[in-house]
Amino acid sequence: MAAVGTDRRPAARGLPRGYRRLVDLSGREDGREAALERLEAELIGCRRCPRLVAWREEVAQHKRAAFRDWDYWGRPVPGFGDPGARLLVLGLAPAAHGANRTGRIFTGDRSGDWLFASMYRCGWANQAESTHRGDGLRLDGAFVTASVRCAPPQNKPTPVERDNCRPWLRTEVDLLVDVSVVVALGTFAWDGALALFGPVRPKPRFGHGAEVAVGGITLLGCYHPSQQNTFTRRLTESMLDDVFTRARELTG
Ligand code: SF4
Repeated sequence: MAAVGTDRRPAARGLPRGYRRLVDLSGREDGREAALERLEAELIGCRRCPRLVAWREEVAQHKRAAFRDWDYWGRPVPGFGDPGARLLVLGLAPAAHGANRTGRIFTGDRSGDWLFASMYRCGWANQAESTHRGDGLRLDGAFVTASVRCAPPQNKPTPVERDNCRPWLRTEVDLLVDVSVVVALGTFAWDGALALFGPVRPKPRFGHGAEVAVGGITLLGCYHPSQQNTFTRRLTESMLDDVFTRARELTG
């Protein structure tokens, strides 16, 4: 495994003006895992977006009746997976009663059930079930994360909240130096990935199965496994598997 700081695309990853790195990538004594742990420790204390802080905590306090015995996470949700990942899966934001409850991205809701079942079928995960942080799920060569780390009302972060949160994703991606393929789940994630790895002109359009080379990685488009898409069969299991199989082909 390469040491933290061996960023393969430094020119494409310039930081925003005035932005201070959350993890010091020049300090090589610790490994990638340790740097990701430090990033997680900083992230979960973030309160940069007042509307989202209020919402995530209100949901955690009032709960859904089916989960009234749960001690909701109610904080920003870190990425999850293999520090040596070649595949990065990028979603929108934690679900109010899913990851905002369990503390692990795409865990505890129907979208996660679809996502991890497909990753399991395609060899990226050791099991299909994703119910809580201690359920034994491990990802092999993959890392799953989100563009915005706090659950937003109606699953709709504002542009300001999206921009507030991007440095967390940028720092996380900087640490995942082996990533060569990014699967964007939905338009929001597609645009976020293009902002992170691009720009590309003209801007490539999102679509299921869309594929574009940008900033040293291959970006794959995939419909989000939301119930809106899976109930209507806009997204089927085989369509999801096709994307993760293609990611396998690309990563070798
Ligand atoms: S959405 Fe991101 S930037 Fe905003 S409070 Fe949550 S972790 Fe912080």
